[in-house]
Amino acid sequence: MAVQSVESSTTSVALGPATALSCRECGERFDLGPIFACAACFGPLEVAYDLPTGDPEALRRRIEAGPDNIWRYAPLLPVPADVADKPGLNPGFTKLVKADNLARELGVTGGLYVKDDSGNPTHSFKDRVVAIAVEAARAFGFTTLSCSSTGNLAGAVGAAAARAGFKSCVFIPHDLEAGKVVMAAVYGGDLVGIEGTYDDVNRFCSELIGDPLGEGWGFVNVNLRPYYGEGSKTLAYEICEQLGWRLPDQLVIPIASGSQLTKIDKGLKELIALGLVEDRPYRIFGAQAEGCSPVSRAFKDGHGVVRPVKPDTIAKSLAIGNPADGPYVLDIARRTGGAVEDVDDAEIVDAIRLLARTEGIFAETAGGVTVGVTRKLLEQGVLDPSLTTVVLNTGDGLKTLDAVTAGPSAVIRPSLEAFRAAGL
Ligand SMILES: *Cc1c(COP(=O)(O)O)cnc(C)c1O
Repeated sequence: MAVQSVESSTTSVALGPATALSCRECGERFDLGPIFACAACFGPLEVAYDLPTGDPEALRRRIEAGPDNIWRYAPLLPVPADVADKPGLNPGFTKLVKADNLARELGVTGGLYVKDDSGNPTHSFKDRVVAIAVEAARAFGFTTLSCSSTGNLAGAVGAAAARAGFKSCVFIPHDLEAGKVVMAAVYGGDLVGIEGTYDDVNRFCSELIGDPLGEGWGFVNVNLRPYYGEGSKTLAYEICEQLGWRLPDQLVIPIASGSQLTKIDKGLKELIALGLVEDRPYRIFGAQAEGCSPVSRAFKDGHGVVRPVKPDTIAKSLAIGNPADGPYVLDIARRTGGAVEDVDDAEIVDAIRLLARTEGIFAETAGGVTVGVTRKLLEQGVLDPSLTTVVLNTGDGLKTLDAVTAGPSAVIRPSLEAFRAAGL
């Protein structure tokens, strides 16, 4: 099979501190390569490391002296040491906004922050995960970058491929928002709309990997998924560094496949293990849209497995009906004393407006989901308002303009008289 021939020629790749892939279910280890499922038990694989234990002060200084992007954390990522010198989009180190106005409105007294990932190069958190997958694709000799996407990933892959010198061919459900479609197509690679849901797109990509048509292709969220996932750890690193090398007490994180949430937890645990932050408890809360809430449903029902659903929500970037990391999300929410909750489309729009009105941040629908869930969990007394809380905004409202109706307060002739008559 095509993929195996790529794999066998790349058994001794150098990806920084990464040493192997290990199975999250049975612990079996494999050489670094473009594989994503355990050959023994089919469990998902993740990157194992030889991390720089030793003097935490020295490591902290080294990170702080690094570039203002995710590559400052290169010693903790599966990337070559000279990664910052390669052509890439260099995402990350986005703003951690102290959201005092929103805190006042929601009654949070312990400090409320919005980690605003709309500031990334293609305006979503996906630039982080793609940047790591690109390094793996280089190491394994792939020439085309691909993905199955709910929208943001397609744009992030298209842009990264253009800059890093790969061809690209990305796959999306055919009915996405115009802003996402344009962003996915403008960088010059191929964009293919699939007649079906994201879950159909993903299944199609899995077939393509096993076919000669997909030879030489790195699918960032399929055969490069173990590396891709590691990019989300940088959110954990940045949040803690921006809080002054301190863990937040509570985090509210959106769930599509659940990869981001599980890897933020992994990143926090690494910071504790490395002595970069003090070991204190933190709680992780997952946020879904009611129209696609299989993980929230399972959490509330006390189940350990997630029953797939057919998505129907304006939060299309989170519309994964069969989330691969769902069971791990449930484990993390329960282990840390968190929860998983959902909000409906009207609450999502309301929350987008609330964040815009209070903090001047225009979030995409996924940001409406996290802010809406934060509000709901506070009302339920599940989130503790006296604790430091970080809410993620993972994308830019300009890509989901149709979700909100907003327009001029008045349209008038250019005269003082007309303006006075408008009564604003
Ligand atoms: C992809 C995405 C997420 C999270 O996706 P996971 O599959 O759970 O990692 C969150 N927000 C936005 C805007 C996204 O595009």
